Amino acid sequence: MDSATAQRPTTWTPAAAEPEKRDLWTAMLRGARGRCPNCGEGKLFRAFLKTHDHCSACGETFSHHRADDLPAYLVIVVVGHLVVPMILWTETNFAPPIPVQLAIYLPFTLIMSLVLLQPIKGAVVGLQWALRMHGFDEGAADAKNPYI
Ligand SMILES: [Zn+2]
Repeated sequence: MDSATAQRPTTWTPAAAEPEKRDLWTAMLRGARGRCPNCGEGKLFRAFLKTHDHCSACGETFSHHRADDLPAYLVIVVVGHLVVPMILWTETNFAPPIPVQLAIYLPFTLIMSLVLLQPIKGAVVGLQWALRMHGFDEGAADAKNPYI
């Protein structure tokens, strides 16, 4: 028996078949910073919301992500939970004229939405990568077809 065959496990175990664990929070944080969820070095986005096909540093494929509308829904939840209490508090305590309120709330809502959209999409892509969703699991039977 040579040394190569002596080091291989002789029996199959579920633990030996499991892929390497990916840290969810690290991947989401890297994605939120616009970096590759795998290495944290390469850029995730090539445009405002368009991801690169591959990481320039480690070669990880990003085209498997299916963020779809989730980042927009999450932005609505976050911005809504900031703006609505602010409107209610201001109206209750000061009751400024409607044009003044619109001049404040509409730009605030627009700017906050634009500021949060890319980091939240990056975090969603990092989440999908860490959980090996869609095509991010290279060992899955459906890895060749991410639409399954
Ligand atoms: Zn990378």
